Amino acid sequence: MLKEDVKVALLKEKVPLLINGEYVESGSGEWFDTFNPATGETISRVAKGNREDVDKAVAAARSALEKSKWAKWPASRRGQILNRVAAIMRERFNDLVRLEVLNSGKALSAAQGQVHQAIEDFEMYAGAVHTLSGDSKPVPNGFLNYTCKEPVGVCAQIVPWNYPLMMAAWKIAPALAAGCTIVLKPASLTPLTAYALADICMEAGVPAGVVNVVTGSGADIGAYLVEHPGVDKVAFTGETGTGKDIMKSASETLKRVTLELGGKSPGIVFDDADLDAAVDGSIFGIYYNTGMSCEARSRLFVHEAIYDTFVERFVDKAKKLKLGDTFSKETHLGAVISANQWDVIDSYVKLGEEEGAKLLYGGGRPEGEEFQNGHWYLPTVLVDVTNDMRVAQEEIFGPVVVIIKFCDEKDVIRQANDSIYGLAAAVWTKDFGRAHRVAAGLKAGTVMVNNPFSAMPGLPFGGYKQSGFGRELALETLNLYTETKSVNAYVGAKPLNPFGI
Ligand code: NAD
Repeated sequence: MLKEDVKVALLKEKVPLLINGEYVESGSGEWFDTFNPATGETISRVAKGNREDVDKAVAAARSALEKSKWAKWPASRRGQILNRVAAIMRERFNDLVRLEVLNSGKALSAAQGQVHQAIEDFEMYAGAVHTLSGDSKPVPNGFLNYTCKEPVGVCAQIVPWNYPLMMAAWKIAPALAAGCTIVLKPASLTPLTAYALADICMEAGVPAGVVNVVTGSGADIGAYLVEHPGVDKVAFTGETGTGKDIMKSASETLKRVTLELGGKSPGIVFDDADLDAAVDGSIFGIYYNTGMSCEARSRLFVHEAIYDTFVERFVDKAKKLKLGDTFSKETHLGAVISANQWDVIDSYVKLGEEEGAKLLYGGGRPEGEEFQNGHWYLPTVLVDVTNDMRVAQEEIFGPVVVIIKFCDEKDVIRQANDSIYGLAAAVWTKDFGRAHRVAAGLKAGTVMVNNPFSAMPGLPFGGYKQSGFGRELALETLNLYTETKSVNAYVGAKPLNPFGI
């Protein structure tokens, strides 16, 4: 139950679509329910957009691109708006956090960190707009060349349910900075904070039609957005399988595509590591956000010399993690997003046991009345795992860690890389040289050395291999929202006569 003293000021009974600066019902006239995963209660009704709504949203974004002159505004003016978005988010920090907790079932502390980071993303790109510039190449014989950056155009931005507001911010902030216009499609399970963010963009002065939001089925309107001829770029975060479908479909119109996909990220603990730090960091690395993080360190490799001690301490700490009231500061793990995801997680734990892994802790629903409604899963530890097992190769996307024993540096790099994914990795060692040798050997977009923090505004975040391509959160992200135009002008005194006739 939502405690009576917790007011969720931004919660609306009904959430319409946002198209061309107006809040409208779907052409279908249909609505779907959205829930609090911690209790299973319905909290709001959301407009179920259809393909006509997508057509309207894309047309609004196209028209805003051409008519609002958003892209032509001085960069500093777009930067001011981005700063204003951040300032309003700061004013409503607690309201945004509560709405996120309510709609995602995550723990308050996780939501606080993510809303905080979303604000910093807007601030980062408010400054980064000033880096958007071309250059000039020396071209001999009377030529003057310069390049300029132009917005890529109308962007379809499709985001998942695990970090609803933060993923929307990772997408919207750089696109706005680059002068693009947007049709955002939040995940159906968690549409509320992405919608609130778009609302704040409007309030901050983003012109009508620059940010549009359509909610509804991914397989229907999400897929339709991707194939839509009016869309120039698709920026997608979600499952690797969905990313593959999107890449295929976007190829029909050769759209620009960036994909932030799944992971099975390794954490590698050497025998010389600071054991307390490695245990605490690895606990955070998997159980933060209830394990529903693309970059969760869900595959732990522990050196044989410290394996038993590490496992014992890890399980002791896992037992201390608090589940429960998602609005409490004390809670570490919130609920799992849905009944469906709960079943996926549980079936993987059972599969792990069938494959020969040992369930050392967790597995299933916690005891206690407060956990019987909603989708609660215990922090879970599987040991005696080998890297070829499915539980070590496939993304579980829940609070389940698999622990694998290793014996030497070369072999652990090989095993860590033996995965279709390559999103992130952590290395725990006091040996400076080894830390950087291993970082160099790992095929991952982010390597954490002696810390568990994978994403910070300004640092590029994205995947190798089937974890996707393109980088978010960084200056280079702006390149993915721009085209480079090269203008080559002849300024010589003597007219050119290339054929010499
Ligand atoms: P998902 O792929 O099921 O859905 C993501 C979004 O795509 C949703 O908005 C959904 O409605 C939409 N969608 C679904 N099918 C579609 C289609 N055919 N065409 C267009 N859109 C479609 O992913 P999810 O279950 O919401 O999120 C979890 C996944 O996201 C995990 O695999 C996780 O690793 C990944 N993720 C990756 C990152 C990263 O930065 N790499 C960050 C967060 C989450």
